[in-house]
Amino acid sequence: MDEVLKELEHYLSKDIPYSRVLSSMCTNPHPIAVKAHCMFLRTNLGDPGLFPGTFELEKKVLSILGNFFGCESAVGYISTGGTESNIQAIRAARNVWKKSNRGNIIVPESAHFSFDKIGDLLGIEVRKAKLDEEYKADLSDVERLVDDETFAIVGIAGTTELGQVDDIKSLSKIALEKGIFLHVDAAFGGFVLPFIGKKDFDFRVKGVSSLAVDPHKMGLATIPAGVIMFREESYLSSLCVETPYLTSSRQYTLTGTRPGTGAASIYAVLKYLGFDGLKKVVLECMRITKMLKEEVEAIGLEPVIEPVTNVVCFKCKAFRLRELLLREGWFVSAINRPEAIRCVIMPHVTEDIALDFVSSLKKTLSFI
Ligand code: PLP
Repeated sequence: MDEVLKELEHYLSKDIPYSRVLSSMCTNPHPIAVKAHCMFLRTNLGDPGLFPGTFELEKKVLSILGNFFGCESAVGYISTGGTESNIQAIRAARNVWKKSNRGNIIVPESAHFSFDKIGDLLGIEVRKAKLDEEYKADLSDVERLVDDETFAIVGIAGTTELGQVDDIKSLSKIALEKGIFLHVDAAFGGFVLPFIGKKDFDFRVKGVSSLAVDPHKMGLATIPAGVIMFREESYLSSLCVETPYLTSSRQYTLTGTRPGTGAASIYAVLKYLGFDGLKKVVLECMRITKMLKEEVEAIGLEPVIEPVTNVVCFKCKAFRLRELLLREGWFVSAINRPEAIRCVIMPHVTEDIALDFVSSLKKTLSFI
């Protein structure tokens, strides 16, 4: 056994410690989440009759989050993350609509690449709306793209590249006027925006039909832990298939066998830290984001937008700079439109790490 563990240790030691990572929307889970995760390792929510306690816990988490995001009666489940939640939201919207075998959805150009997978999986057209000067979905372009075959509009609350938030209220107005489903992808922003005074992205906005939030990003839960929520039960039911040989007769999830670890780790964080504790974490990330923005501006790089969430991007020859920073051991992302380096200030990015990064950046910039 020792030998096997030693070998595993060897592979694990090759992984990059989060302390050099500014490119990821994941972070070290909270210790209580790790404990909870380990406790629930043997659970399988794909066969809920065998795990009634874990199933009850999942329902409890859904109820807490439904309330928190403005819809007490929201229904849904704990998914593997934003990709699965987005797939399920659009699949449900398509199943309820089902006017033809084609159909299209409108997403902003800033949408996560999971929507390209959705187009491929469902055989639907994914129309990309232009962005306005603030890199939010351009509302007139969204309206222009809607036609008789459009069954869903998507808004992003915390875009992957810039952390920007679409005008969900206006998208809701369009969706309600045209009688179309509105999905909000708050995979990243869901556990950021409510803590910085922004609540106009969730079920409080009337036209929002479904919401994806990821506790395994800013919720400090263990991977995998995403949540998909629907305002109306009929959408979740539209995902059901019959499961004759299991303890339940119908299943609405995408995966069959699925861990109860997400439910346990999310619940543990919510009970232990609570929303107040998570707010403190987010406010610290926002403080460091602002500090980093100012420090980097002072060495001559311009931010693409004023950070809205804990993401900041700087215009530069990003692909070259990313390569040079990597030689210094730093992981940042490079984005294309506009060309910029992207830093996500997750909870593992402390003030010291951010300042250390700025000194490496200063040194690196002198080479290009
Ligand atoms: N949606 C948004 C806005 C994201 O930023 C991401 C990932 O970064 C996803 C969806 C996909 O999430 P996951 O990688 O957990 O499937």
